[in-house]
Amino acid sequence: MESSDFPDEVAKLCYKHFKKLPKKGKPQGIRDWTLLACIAMSKEYPKRSLKVITLTTGTKCLGFSQLSDKGDVLFDSHAEVLARRSFIKFMMHHMLLVLHKNDSEILTYNETDKKFNLRPGIAFHLFVSHVPCGDAAIFPKNPENEENSGELVQGDCEENPSKKLKLDISNELDNSNNNSSYAVHDIYRTGAKCVDGDVQDPKMPGKDFHVIGALRTKPGRGDPTWSMSCSDKIALWNVCGIQGALLSSLLEAPVYLSSIIFGKCPFDSKAIQRAVIERISDVTFLPSQYYINKPMIFQSTIKFEFSKGSIEDRIDCPSIACPMSIIWCDIPGFLEVAVNGRKQGFTKKNINKPSARVSICKSMLLEKFQEIIQVMSEDFTQMPIEVKDNFTYLDYKHMAKSYQEAKSVFWKIFSTWKRKPDNLQKFIVLRKKNE
Ligand SMILES: [Zn+2]
Repeated sequence: MESSDFPDEVAKLCYKHFKKLPKKGKPQGIRDWTLLACIAMSKEYPKRSLKVITLTTGTKCLGFSQLSDKGDVLFDSHAEVLARRSFIKFMMHHMLLVLHKNDSEILTYNETDKKFNLRPGIAFHLFVSHVPCGDAAIFPKNPENEENSGELVQGDCEENPSKKLKLDISNELDNSNNNSSYAVHDIYRTGAKCVDGDVQDPKMPGKDFHVIGALRTKPGRGDPTWSMSCSDKIALWNVCGIQGALLSSLLEAPVYLSSIIFGKCPFDSKAIQRAVIERISDVTFLPSQYYINKPMIFQSTIKFEFSKGSIEDRIDCPSIACPMSIIWCDIPGFLEVAVNGRKQGFTKKNINKPSARVSICKSMLLEKFQEIIQVMSEDFTQMPIEVKDNFTYLDYKHMAKSYQEAKSVFWKIFSTWKRKPDNLQKFIVLRKKNE
């Protein structure tokens, strides 16, 4: 159980880390705001410690027409999503540290079954400066959640077994603050749109604008995006883990978030619980090692200085979402800035060059993954997965059997989840020859 200072301790650490980074990629104009997400790692041994291992910013998502089938572009640059991709890069770095030097503070390697394991006492915490887009962002406007003051909210709702959510906004929202006599007149809204083939928002004035519990895709400029909202993705991580398909082939068990901490912002614990925990409570028949993760949910009392709310407190004209993304993780010398899913600073002419790719795009992560399995296979003993030169990114993802099984039971509950077309994942990264 974390102490009551924990949310502020995490927030302060993340803000401090953001401050330390160079200006590049940070909001520049007085009207610019961004979202900050970090993954912090706590360790119990040799003594209790907490540090930031990934830091990312971003508010943008590419429309369908801008997507690439080469794995070279980040489709979704919302800060939370980049934080998770950076976590994968961070883990890959540690896998190579173990294999080359047997020296990682995070992972151990079991040579018999060729799987990596987290060291005991390690836990991961997601910090986000604002509630995630999508379902968690829909809740009643009232004085309580506008001036929320870091109340501790326990994520485990075991005593309160949730029923299947009904997409009935009036009941749910009217009852959502049953401790107060405040009548709900209006709600906070999300730009994320209900997926096709499912219940749609009525878009009526006031509290009847949205449905709740629905799967949503992110807003984009112009054409629709193919990316699910951050609320939906976090719900998925609570079933499948944050390590992704590739790494789940190499890890003994999936990696789950122990807690999620939000910065000071309009916040409603019930909406967060609904979006990222209660909606998945009907997921059953998960493969061994997988379970429904119920992270602790907290809110800090401290605002992010570049949050939309902070900027709008300082100016009296419309604020602008910063188009740049900072991508940092705890690997010596690593820091990148992305715009439109690629490294900042590339002209149109050079945009397809490998050097325009950020290190956490699909193809670069696949390249690192292949490097790891190459080192692992050097002792010629049997690998945990089959490896072939012509394997595509999608083939490698399909090799992660348990992960795919977990994902498919998740999709039974969320049958209208907008899945990326396979043809966007069928690229190959040539494996580098042994030096
Ligand atoms: Zn988002």
